[in-house]
Order: sequence, then structure tokens, then C-alpha cells
Amino acid sequence: MDGDVEQKSSVGVIGAGIQGVCVSLNLIKKGFKVTIIDKDEPGKNSASYGNAGHFSPYASLSMNRPDILIDVPAMLLSATGPLALKWNYVPKMIPWFLKFIKNCTKKKMMHTAKYMHQILDLALPAYDELFQEIDISGLVESKGIIYFWTDKDLKSRELEINVRKELGVEQKLLKPHEIHDLEPHIKQIYHGGVLYPGARHARNPRKILIKLFDLFLKKGGKFKKENVEKINFSSDDKPLIKTSSNLYTFDKAVIACGAFSKKLTDQTNEKIPLDTERGYHVHFKGYDNLLSRPVIFLNRGFGITPMEQGLRVVGTVEFGGLHNPVSKKRILNLVNNAKYLFPELNDHDDEWLGFRPTLPDFLPVMGKSKNHKNLFYSFGHHHLGWTLGAISGKIVAGIIAKENTNLDLSAYSSSRFN
Ligand SMILES: Cc1cc2nc3c(=O)[nH]c(=O)nc-3n(C[C@H](O)[C@H](O)[C@H](O)COP(=O)(O)OP(=O)(O)OC[C@H]3O[C@@H](n4cnc5c(N)ncnc54)[C@H](O)[C@@H]3O)c2cc1C
Repeated sequence: MDGDVEQKSSVGVIGAGIQGVCVSLNLIKKGFKVTIIDKDEPGKNSASYGNAGHFSPYASLSMNRPDILIDVPAMLLSATGPLALKWNYVPKMIPWFLKFIKNCTKKKMMHTAKYMHQILDLALPAYDELFQEIDISGLVESKGIIYFWTDKDLKSRELEINVRKELGVEQKLLKPHEIHDLEPHIKQIYHGGVLYPGARHARNPRKILIKLFDLFLKKGGKFKKENVEKINFSSDDKPLIKTSSNLYTFDKAVIACGAFSKKLTDQTNEKIPLDTERGYHVHFKGYDNLLSRPVIFLNRGFGITPMEQGLRVVGTVEFGGLHNPVSKKRILNLVNNAKYLFPELNDHDDEWLGFRPTLPDFLPVMGKSKNHKNLFYSFGHHHLGWTLGAISGKIVAGIIAKENTNLDLSAYSSSRFN
């Protein structure tokens, strides 16, 4: 009976990225009345549009690990490396960095890995449920993902391989000739690699997002293209959402604004240390026939995915907040790195900057807000928010519907930061 009352409730979901759309779709299937509010058209320019398209269920080991602290200075100094800073933002980010350093112990690394693995393991089956209702032909490939490296970095690679082995992740170590057999067009600079056979990739993440969004509309969902400026709460703790042009009252609300969520969570008196790792992509149109599956060159920390748009070259972790301009140097770095692997590449298009939403312990925030019983969160999925869209949507919708679960969700609660 309680469930019936819950499921007639209205829910306002702020954000039409992969997180917002998947939670909305799961809610509407349960009978909630759902309105998505986004300042843009879904997937127009968000992280859910421009990502590398990897569905990476193996990627439970995150960046908070003991060896990263030793590697950072060299990575920052390297002209071809993956890491960059916008110096004007460094003072603002110091509290985040300090929390991150505390999360780099072996124990914290394994805590993150365990709780990432819990949801990553369910990520593809959750997508398969959603994909039963849309036509994804030509949009998702199941050919695995290859990481390769030169000898130089073997120690860090061993750590990743061992942790994944411990967690039971399917992986196949590759000798150079095996990499060549799988991807014959890459210049043979590598000395070893690993194939994650269970991984998939999207040939156009935005098209998939829009198909899911259209399904949401078809099921009776509503969409408002408005910027959310404020969240307040009524005397009975119902969310009041003020946009640039309207004030909406819902029974419940979900914040799913990716890296932009902090602007709203700060208004609820919760200090959630969300920040962003900026990343870039460029396209080499017409060259997608050079690869069969995504590859990542670990020494230089960038990847290339064959997509409808051509080869999408993706990479960089740049700490610089949400408002600094695009770094031309980072774009050039990606272009040069791509040409290092594929000397035949010519002009590139579409220089894109996106914002990974990242907490210092590299776990997402999913669940109820600490201070408001009708407010819920789904953000902070860092490098894996595309992979985790469907499963997070299922989990958060389940929490809102007060369903039982045998998952341990405490590690994703926002109250872990208090
Ligand atoms: C370069 C790069 C490569 C990546 N590659 C991968 C990958 O291969 N695999 C993977 O799993 N993940 C990848 N990721 C991570 C993944 O893309 C993100 O974690 C994920 O897309 C985040 O989804 P989201 O819905 O939380 O946020 P977003 O996609 O950022 O969506 C947030 C939405 O909220 C809206 N919004 C924000 N503020 C407001 C407001 N005030 N009012 C109204 N609307 C608002 C925005 O307009 C946007 O539509 C990558 C990210 C980057 C940057």
C-alpha cells in the first residue's frame, strides 16, 4: 500500500545526462510521474555526449592508488603525458587534493575497488534491460577494449592486473604479435597489453542517450529545457525547484547534474567535495576503419575509439574547474599522440572539452540527501559514468521507490563526507 502511494508521486529530475535519463526511465517504469529539467537539449554538449564510449565493467581500480602519488610529478612534467593543471584553479582545489591523497592508501584503494566492482559487475546487464526497448543496431559493439604499454610502466600495470585478478575480472594478457593481429594498423610501439573481452563500446553515445530519452517521453515523461537556479523546500520538506522562468513543486527531486551538481548540493547545507577532471576529445573523420575496438595507450594516458564520427581521440585529466577555457595545448597533445600511433592521420575536427564529475574517493554519490528526505542524488561517477548509467538509474530509482536490495549501498551515501 505504502508502495502504491510512493509510486504515484511526482519526481523532478535535474539533468538529462546518462544519469538523469536512466534514473527517470527506471522511475517512470515504476509508475512515478517524472519531469526532467535540463538547461540544454539532452546530450547536446555534456560529458554523456563526448566520452570515449567505453562500457568498462572491468575498471574497478580507480585513480586513488598508492603509486599515483609517485607518478604525478613526472606526469605533470611530461609534454606527452595525460595530466595537466590550470594554475589559477589550484588554490581552490587544495581541499579536494588533500582528501584525494588520504584516499590513496592501499586500504582505501581496495575499498573503492570493491564498491566500484559491485556496481560495475551489474552495469552491462542493467543496460541490456534498457536496450530491450530501443533499437541499438549499429550503435553498440562487443569486441572488448585493449590497453597497451611499453616496458617502462610495467610495475603499475602489474598492480592493475593483480587487483583485477583478485576481483575476478576477465582479462587476457597480450603479447605484441597478438595486439598486432587484433589491431594491425597501430604502429608497433608497444611491448605488451591486455584485452578486456567483456567490454563493449558505443559508436555514438549521444544517439544512445537520445533513444533512451525518447523512450522516456514515449512512456509519458515530461521535459523542461530550463536552467535550475535554486532548490528550496516547503514546510513539509517537498522540493521547490526554481528555474530561470518557473517555480516547480514536486514530491521528490533528484540531482543528476554531473560535475555541475555541487552548485545545487551546496544549497542543501551538505558539503559534498565534488570537483571535476576535465577531459578532451577530437575526431578524425573517416578513419574509423583503422580500428575494430577502443584502444588505450597507457604510457601517454589517452585512448582512441572507432565511432560514427570517425576516430574519437580522448584523454587528459586536467584539474581546472568548470569555468576555465579550453587548453589548446591539450588538444594538440591529443592530436600528436594520435598521429604517433597512426602516422597516416590528417586534419582533425570537433575540439571538445568535457567535465568528469569526481569525488576524492572515486566513488559516486547515489542515494538520499543527508538533510532532506525527499531529495536524492545520482552524480560523481568520474571516468565511468557512461558505463554506470543504467545500473545507477536502477539503484537510485529503487531507493526512491523504497525497494529492498541485497546490495550494500552505504559506500555511495553522501553522508560519508561528514
Ligand atoms: C573525456 C571524457 C571521456 C570519458 N570516457 C568515458 C568512457 O569511455 N566510459 C565511461 O563510462 N565514462 C566516461 N566518461 C565519464 C562519463 O562521460 C561521465 O561520468 C558521465 O557522462 C556523467 O554523466 P552525468 O549524467 O552524471 O553528467 P552529464 O553528462 O554531465 O550531464 C549533466 C546534465 O546536467 C545538466 N545541468 C547541469 N547543471 C544544470 C542546471 N543548473 N540546471 C539544469 N540542468 C543542468 C547539463 O546540461 C547536463 O545535460 C568520460 C568523460 C570525459 C569527460
